Amino acid sequence: MMTTPPERVVIVGGGLAGHTAAVTLRRCGFQGQISLITRESTEPYDRPPLSKELLAGAVTRPTLSPGLGDLEVELQTDTVAVGIRHGEILTTAGRLPFGAAILAPGLRARRLPGELGAPEARVLRTFDDAVQLRTELTADRAILIVGAGLIGAEVATAAAAAGCRVTVVSPEFGPALPGLPDTVLDEIRGWYDECGIQLTVGVSALETNSTGVLLSDSRVQAADLVIVAVGGSPATSWLDGSPVTLDRAAFITADEYLRTSLPGVYAAGDAVAWRSSRYETDMHLEHWHHAAESAQVAARNILGAAESYDPLPYFWSHQLGHSLHYIGRHSRTDTAEIRADFRSGRAVTWTRGGHPTAVLALDAPHLVRRARKTLESATRPEAGVVR
Ligand SMILES: Cc1cc2nc3c(=O)[nH]c(=O)nc-3n(C[C@H](O)[C@H](O)[C@H](O)COP(=O)(O)OP(=O)(O)OC[C@H]3O[C@@H](n4cnc5c(N)ncnc54)[C@H](O)[C@@H]3O)c2cc1C
Repeated sequence: MMTTPPERVVIVGGGLAGHTAAVTLRRCGFQGQISLITRESTEPYDRPPLSKELLAGAVTRPTLSPGLGDLEVELQTDTVAVGIRHGEILTTAGRLPFGAAILAPGLRARRLPGELGAPEARVLRTFDDAVQLRTELTADRAILIVGAGLIGAEVATAAAAAGCRVTVVSPEFGPALPGLPDTVLDEIRGWYDECGIQLTVGVSALETNSTGVLLSDSRVQAADLVIVAVGGSPATSWLDGSPVTLDRAAFITADEYLRTSLPGVYAAGDAVAWRSSRYETDMHLEHWHHAAESAQVAARNILGAAESYDPLPYFWSHQLGHSLHYIGRHSRTDTAEIRADFRSGRAVTWTRGGHPTAVLALDAPHLVRRARKTLESATRPEAGVVR
């Protein structure tokens, strides 16, 4: 672990993790130079509102505060990292020497093959994607959404509210959690019905062509607009063949301190797969709290903190007129129990050997807040209970 602060920290990625890393360095008293490079043309902004408030009509960019200018961070927009070697990041604007670096390039939205044919397909990852989509979600248009995960469901919500005729096709639906009880899946399916959205499950989209989207059941689904919401892959191709090791799925490999294989280089956010002591496995998460908290830990460790990064996974989603909040980590073989109590709301709790592993709350965020403390101690590495 580094003990003398470096003269210059270079951060790659202007998303939540990159922004939080810069803020944390300054809050911890770092007085050296901070350079943040991002392929986007603006200051970092927040992504969750893109599929919610922004699609619903808000026009402004959801900014993150404080602004980087107030923190004396050199922001290089429209600049792409193309390589890294010891003490130096190579970018489209030249070489950037560093004493320490934080890699936070996030994900790129996955696309389907052949989708550039008509109808043109959209993805949602950036502010520009959201602004374009918003203008295209107009009444009576036939919208086909491929993927019924969190973002697919949120976009479907906005499209239905805009008066579009919405069809969603997906092999699965609901939050990507193993062993969701059928009654919960039935309830979520009902949310689609309530919003007038046609949900077809068990079908995948193979490719777009000039007449629509070819589905795995051989149907071609016609649509005025196709939106592909099938997850993302790490934006790490620029690290291929570099001294920074990637795992098989191209996530940046890091230890429990978020150190990569290259000395002085840390990773944070959606693109890192780190060693979790809590769960004794390599993990990656693609959620807001993880992006912020991993960046804080990476920044503090650069300044000598020696802090292990070991969060309880947590995410939320607002979709189809409802909210989902999940905390913990469970497996398909854990025992699921549904708690439905009119006053305190509905939740699924998972246990293993009588010890809690995770909670999913439907329209009841307080149940997740309440469960945090119990889960925190049940899954502590020294508790030795849950693996
Ligand atoms: C539409 C949407 C809605 C979401 N809603 C929720 C939600 O409700 N709840 C929740 O928990 N999470 C949500 N998330 C997830 C959450 O926003 C992400 O986990 C978080 O944004 C990840 O932050 P990050 O900084 O790791 O990556 P990103 O936000 O993806 O930022 C990475 C940045 O790095 C830049 N970059 C990439 N490669 C390079 C390179 N080579 N050189 C320079 N710059 C590069 C990218 O352009 C980007 O600006 C949502 C995500 C999206 C897209």
